[in-house]
Amino acid sequence: QRGTAGAAIPSALGLEGIRQVFGEVVALDGVSLTVAPGEILCLLGHSGCGKTTLLRIAAGVERPVEGRVVLDGREVAGPSRFVPPEQRGVGLMFQDYALFPHLTILQNVMFGLKRLPPPEAEEAASRALARVGLGHYADDYPHMLSGGEQQRVALARAIAPRPGILLMDEPFSNLDRRMRDGVREETVALLRETGATAVVVTHDPEEAMRIADRIVLMRAGRIVQGGTAEELYRRPQSLFAARFFCDFNEIKAIVQSGRVDTPLGAFAAPGLSEGTEAVVCIRPQGIRIMPSGIGAAGRVISRCFLGEVDLVEVVAAGLDKPLHARVRECYEAAVGEDVGVEVMPDEVLVFAAAGA
Ligand code: ATP
Repeated sequence: QRGTAGAAIPSALGLEGIRQVFGEVVALDGVSLTVAPGEILCLLGHSGCGKTTLLRIAAGVERPVEGRVVLDGREVAGPSRFVPPEQRGVGLMFQDYALFPHLTILQNVMFGLKRLPPPEAEEAASRALARVGLGHYADDYPHMLSGGEQQRVALARAIAPRPGILLMDEPFSNLDRRMRDGVREETVALLRETGATAVVVTHDPEEAMRIADRIVLMRAGRIVQGGTAEELYRRPQSLFAARFFCDFNEIKAIVQSGRVDTPLGAFAAPGLSEGTEAVVCIRPQGIRIMPSGIGAAGRVISRCFLGEVDLVEVVAAGLDKPLHARVRECYEAAVGEDVGVEVMPDEVLVFAAAGA
């Protein structure tokens, strides 16, 4: 990245070749990434893929066996250097955001500001509390607040020292769904307003898509793919990445002349060589239910009204598993009725089955 003056802007966080091992377990296997100033980056992946370990290494709570951590152009971890967490200027927020029950809300927020003289710490804490809309709770105790409010106090505590970067591990997962949506939206709005840089760990692809400028998908201690939500969803580079973002209908087929033939039609198989065993992935919204006689022959076996869409399950000739379709406006077929099944080619991805 280059600024207007042509000088390189240092990334807010750089991780280079990070490797971490716990006994026999390789938790991180050469992970490199950078986070630009003001960027919200999501580390996404299944449980155990190394997201938390990577965040802890960035924070300085853990030291990697190999690799470098650079914050704002300054090396804070490397072969011969290790800067402890309290000297890194990072804000940390973990899933278990545990407020101290015996301290008031204001005192909880002041906890991360111990290095400031008390009057300044109090002023900074009050400002942070006001930012998250909880100034009026300053003298209350944590148990008097709802889960969502407590989470916002934890956010205030993390932002109060004005850290260069916020590292958040599953920050919304302790909240119930309805509250989570609201708190998440407010948190992102606040990060945007303050131009904060943040790395947010989540296992939920929808959450990552809602909040991230860029998503880094991990698997077994490695980065699988990084990009915007749209890039990962539209152009996944592997079956693993594709499956992470969509519950596909999958059909096995062999590549012949650059195509795969299925009972639902033939589809292009770009980049796959002749004879490759492939998985044809069809998005549920890419299946259209038509009157019988159009497209492939099928029969509706269930239908569920969900408001915006109907979920329709349909068996099609030549397939061993029912297809799941998410349909908006479609031919109103009853359960048990013979129908036609069409596939929208734009909603189909084809991958090699090997290495999934
Ligand atoms: P989750 O979402 O469940 O927290 P994660 O993607 O954050 O998962 P990590 O917590 O980073 O994954 O764990 C990565 C791997 O390293 C796992 O196999 C885990 O069991 C192992 N691991 C992590 N910390 C330790 C530790 N202190 N001691 C031993 N093994 C560990």
